[in-house]
Amino acid sequence: MSQAFDVVFIGSGPAGYIGAIRAAQLGMRVAVVEEWKTPAGEAALGGTCLNVGCIPSKALLASSEAYEKVLHHMADHGIAVAGATFDLGKMMARKEAIVAKMTKGIEFLFKKNRITWLKGHGRLAGKGAHGWQVEVSGAGPSEVHEAKYVVVATGSKARGLPGVPVDNVLVNDNIGALAFKEVPKRLGVIGAGVIGLELGSVWRRLGAKVTVLEALPTFLAAADESVQKEAWKIFTKRQGLDIRLGAKIGKVETGKKGVTVQYELDGKAETLECDRLIVSVGRVPNTDNLGAEAVGLKLDSRGFVEVDAHCRSNLPNVFAIGDVVRGPMLAHKGEEEGVMVAELIAGQKPHVNYDAIPWVIYTSPEIAWVGRTEQELRAAGVPYKLGQFPFAVNGRALGQDETDGFVKVLAHAKTDEILGVHIVSSQASELIAEAVVAMEFRAAAEDIARITHAHPSLSEVIREAALAVDKRALNM
Ligand code: FAD
Ligand code: NAD
Repeated sequence: MSQAFDVVFIGSGPAGYIGAIRAAQLGMRVAVVEEWKTPAGEAALGGTCLNVGCIPSKALLASSEAYEKVLHHMADHGIAVAGATFDLGKMMARKEAIVAKMTKGIEFLFKKNRITWLKGHGRLAGKGAHGWQVEVSGAGPSEVHEAKYVVVATGSKARGLPGVPVDNVLVNDNIGALAFKEVPKRLGVIGAGVIGLELGSVWRRLGAKVTVLEALPTFLAAADESVQKEAWKIFTKRQGLDIRLGAKIGKVETGKKGVTVQYELDGKAETLECDRLIVSVGRVPNTDNLGAEAVGLKLDSRGFVEVDAHCRSNLPNVFAIGDVVRGPMLAHKGEEEGVMVAELIAGQKPHVNYDAIPWVIYTSPEIAWVGRTEQELRAAGVPYKLGQFPFAVNGRALGQDETDGFVKVLAHAKTDEILGVHIVSSQASELIAEAVVAMEFRAAAEDIARITHAHPSLSEVIREAALAVDKRALNM
């Protein structure tokens, strides 16, 4: 049955579902179109992040880290564990249970906020008496609903390599890589980006021999140069990830024994034989069959919906948020855009501070940063001071056996305003929050240096790095 809404979100990932909740809080009549189905064929909310992204990957991360701890880090505490094993089926079941809890949680939130879930594929179909028409096609006959505002939040999907079909058995994108039925003895990964490193590390901890082929000659190009160096040392030399930079991928063939990847390295032809391959070479926006052409919604040359700083598209009352628009493909960036758009529609004046969006790479140790890197400041000719402090001399880090990494604070040479904070630490994802708050409030390094940090805690390292900006770290 056709219905009229104030706003229809297409897509229920973090961008769409958070935007929908905020719009409902502001008194709007809201619907969300979502077509996702679980492997069992059940309709599900939550998008990539909850179903096959952030949430399941962090569940496996925790399981694999627990196993590694038992194997390699208990003896130092005087705890002997003999014959530790793991049950991958149980690990996967735990992950699935967490995913189900989270996606069902969104169903609950939709009911609580009186948000209508329109199950099926959404397509912009034209204009009607009440505004934009959105056609929803699912199992039954398609329906056309109308809305004053439409928010495209259709997210992204894994980018494939030409001529390398993904079957999610031998050749996997993020979906298959989170659901292996057994630990591959030899795992190949194409792309040493966020997914390659996070999932490569998960399977390495569970026993796979992991080889990562990366096209670029540099490692973690978006990260600060000190982070790149530290991460390279830890992941390759200490943890045994075999990362080959500057690899030019050729033919990829599958057979009964696994996958063969031909590639060129330093002008020499090389071959990688592996049991399973993960292709993690970036993601592309979901704009297929969205009706963009039919209604004149402007996409850029890479298929992203073109938007301004407030996520307005070229069409009146049509917004786009999350992975389907420019900017980092991060769940929290999409969430902030969802909130902003709902509040704009309600007549408020919100904005997203794109300069203070934290990045986290959930490896072990974790990598997190906010703001600019040292190489960016240098290239932009911004005068800066830097303070760096290691976890190795922090009492809490020693007690927890988590001494890897450092905090690096970059501040303006004249004003002392914090311009970037870069952390390598087992708890970097949590520690970075202090830096984000500081940057939102345009704090100086001196501000952090003068705040009392609990002792003993890892956060003391942030203070020490802020003190080090003026060469007055206390514990070094
Ligand atoms: P999505 O989450 O992709 O959701 C879009 C939804 O729209 C999907 O459910 C899709 O079915 C639906 N849809 C698409 N087209 C239509 C249509 N026409 N009709 C109806 N429905 C449609 N980010 C982080 O910040 N932290 C992390 O730790 C993290 N880990 C990740 C791990 C992995 C393995 C992957 C793959 C990604 C990870 N990300 C992480 C990135 C994060 O998942 C995305 O940035 C985030 O999901 C984007 O949210 P979104 O709402 O824009 O889109
Ligand atoms: P990515 O952009 O992080 O990394 C892709 C890597 O593949 C790059 O290093 C790139 O140089 C390399 N590459 C590209 N083409 C190649 C080729 N032909 N051969 C070899 N290497 C090649 O992409 P991703 O790892 O697929 O992740 C996609 C996005 O998902 C990320 O950019 C991120 O925004 C998001 N994500 C975020 C998190 C997180 O926040 N912790 C976790 C996972 C994914």
